[in-house]
Amino acid sequence: MNFNFKKTYKFAVISALYITFFATGFLCVLDYFFIKLEVNNLILVASIFSISIYVFALFLMQYRTEKFIYQRVKKLYDDVSFLDSNFFLKQPISTDLTEITSQMQRFATDKKLEIETLNDREEFRREFLGNVSHELKTPLFTVQGYISTLLDGAMKDKVIRKKYLERAEKGVERLIYIVEDLDTIAKLEISEGKIEMTNFDIVSLIQGVFDLLEMKANKKEIMLSFDSKYHKPIMVLGNHEKIQQVVTNLVENSIKYGKIGGSTEICIDEIVNNKILINVKDNGEGIEKQNISRLFERFYRVDKSGARSEGGSGLGLAIVKHIIEAHNEKIFVDSNFRVGSEFSFTLQKAFN
Ligand code: ADP
Repeated sequence: MNFNFKKTYKFAVISALYITFFATGFLCVLDYFFIKLEVNNLILVASIFSISIYVFALFLMQYRTEKFIYQRVKKLYDDVSFLDSNFFLKQPISTDLTEITSQMQRFATDKKLEIETLNDREEFRREFLGNVSHELKTPLFTVQGYISTLLDGAMKDKVIRKKYLERAEKGVERLIYIVEDLDTIAKLEISEGKIEMTNFDIVSLIQGVFDLLEMKANKKEIMLSFDSKYHKPIMVLGNHEKIQQVVTNLVENSIKYGKIGGSTEICIDEIVNNKILINVKDNGEGIEKQNISRLFERFYRVDKSGARSEGGSGLGLAIVKHIIEAHNEKIFVDSNFRVGSEFSFTLQKAFN
């Protein structure tokens, strides 16, 4: 049997022994010199006295120390429990020092983790705010620059006026992209975990996105198509509006970063575990290996200079990842620089 002798008992046993030795010794000296008891009687008196004093001292010490520790520990529990009432209210107050130490260690580790998470979040928030203001500043200053130049006299020249107004309009368009994407991200964060799922046909959703983006694709003579004819509907489970946004962002990117006369092809495959894999493949500019791992970060753009003619807010893929993860699904990317890119994501197959 594993008899775990509590530290407070040990303390009481040893302290009671000291008290007993001292008191019995003192009593024997007094009896011997002043009352002059016979040795036999002295032993009898000393024995009875030592047993009584030992039992009394033991109980008194045990009771007092438990009470003393309990009061202080209770105060300690009360003081710290407001920091994490869940942690402390779940367990009874212990007076066992080993148990208290381990509880405190667990509490300190939990708090350390919590503080680290909060610091990370704070760092992320600071970085995000910095990125937002930086991204908004560039197009705002562009618009301001063109308008100021026009007001300073350039508007008298018809050709320059048109050119500068068109450039200012491009800047405003960019501002709109960014604000709309930020709005989408904010809404996604608010509705996190509460997305409404329905069964819908992914083939007709993709066809709808193709129809919507046909004009944009035509401007670059890019052909939008399925890899083969899908005669029957393929039903999936998800949020129709959000999946439409995912497909739109991916197809839009394939046009933005596609080459003139190129193609975007979507393939729908049934894979294991009743999952459907949707693959969006283009033969555009592709992405260099070192940039692939960062593509889904907010505001990450391969060409940071903004010199490139195409480009949105840098939030498109972050939104895509957010939506797919909210569905508990996965997104994959594969790309070869100057050859093309493939973005694919999974969805749950629906049965009806
Ligand atoms: P952006 O608004 O800049 O398009 P995204 O988040 O949608 O932002 O994409 C991030 C970056 O990933 C883009 O700047 C682009 O460099 C790269 N990218 C995304 N899709 C493709 C693609 N189909 N082909 C090549 N590069 C792509």
